[in-house]
Amino acid sequence: MPFHVMLIPTLGCPSSCSYCWSSEEGSPIMSIETIKDVVEWLKNFRDEPVTFTFHGGEPLLAGADFYRQALPLLSQGLGHLKIAFALQTNLWKMTPELAEILAEYGIPIGSSLDGPKELNDLQRSSGYYDKTLRGYEIAREGGLTVRFICTFTSYSVKHKEEIFNYFLENGLTLKLHPALPSLRDRDPEKWALDPKEYGELLVYILDKAVEKIDEIDIMNINDLCKCVFTGRGTVCTYVDCMGDTFAVGPDGSIYPCYRFVGMPEYIMGNVRDHPSMEDLAQSRAWKLMHQFKEYVDRECRKCRHIKYCRGGCPYNAIAPTGGQVTGVDPHCVAYKIIFDEINDRFNREMLGSFALEMGEPQGARPAGPGIMALMRKMASNPS
Ligand code: SF4
Ligand code: SF4
Repeated sequence: MPFHVMLIPTLGCPSSCSYCWSSEEGSPIMSIETIKDVVEWLKNFRDEPVTFTFHGGEPLLAGADFYRQALPLLSQGLGHLKIAFALQTNLWKMTPELAEILAEYGIPIGSSLDGPKELNDLQRSSGYYDKTLRGYEIAREGGLTVRFICTFTSYSVKHKEEIFNYFLENGLTLKLHPALPSLRDRDPEKWALDPKEYGELLVYILDKAVEKIDEIDIMNINDLCKCVFTGRGTVCTYVDCMGDTFAVGPDGSIYPCYRFVGMPEYIMGNVRDHPSMEDLAQSRAWKLMHQFKEYVDRECRKCRHIKYCRGGCPYNAIAPTGGQVTGVDPHCVAYKIIFDEINDRFNREMLGSFALEMGEPQGARPAGPGIMALMRKMASNPS
């Protein structure tokens, strides 16, 4: 995992998705002075490769001039580090000019689509689907690679087959997210996906990944299998992200992750002061994140998945409790379901292979593709 800095040019967003928990009307746009401060801050901060992800709100609201100036400032100003960029957007504001600027830096684009038009617009907002697909075409014509994240809610999980088929039939890579409780909503749990249902959804998606092994890539399944095989987390949810991930809000405030941006109690410092790691470690937010890590070491110590789960996402665990460490990520239920499933299937397949070698009857062997086939596919196509 490289060191990761998320840049949040604004919390504003032109959409109004029903379950959104992160956008904020009237949020300012980050200035280029703040980008210059980011460069100065990071020059002597850490001597490691760094990935910058532009996130939001909606980061393209910052406009073409912002990226025309920000990208060379970051890549030249921090030329002594190995730098990579990524950007997460709903694509509504994509223009040929922006696509050209982003393509010059080979920036992979992540976007969001929850399935077929009717279903997507019901839980995101009316007109969302058409605006995103228009931006998608512009991005592709401009030479950008776009991958979609599909958020499953308490509503859309009932349509999982329809959603899976949509991604399959349109030749799209699938990455799914569970809808989180929206702490800014009067009814925070309305769209949130229940952890047990999330676990069952992951098992359903695992079955589909195996069944359609030559037709679709499912990023979550790849990541979960990699966790089990390598014995360590391969995405932020399953590692100790504290100290290796930071987010910078529109006014230069530094947070532990984009999920906390806009919550003043999680500010660790500001880029204009060029804080060191030691300075940030004095903040309440830093201490809270490390308190979570110690809690996981204690509470999850008997769990067979601790090495590659690490208690899940600290935001999920501490934001809903008002900053108290009282439990691990509530999605623990889902993580146990899917990690158990992958481990058990893998062990059965290993036993089957062993039986084959020993000349035992067919019944003892695995039928058709399984976890090992998925791993072989990933190994032959590591991208
Ligand atoms: S707080 Fe959660 S979303 Fe943010 S980096 Fe850590 S694990 Fe990832
Ligand atoms: S699955 Fe649950 S108990 Fe096990 S390490 Fe993850 S959060 Fe902890």
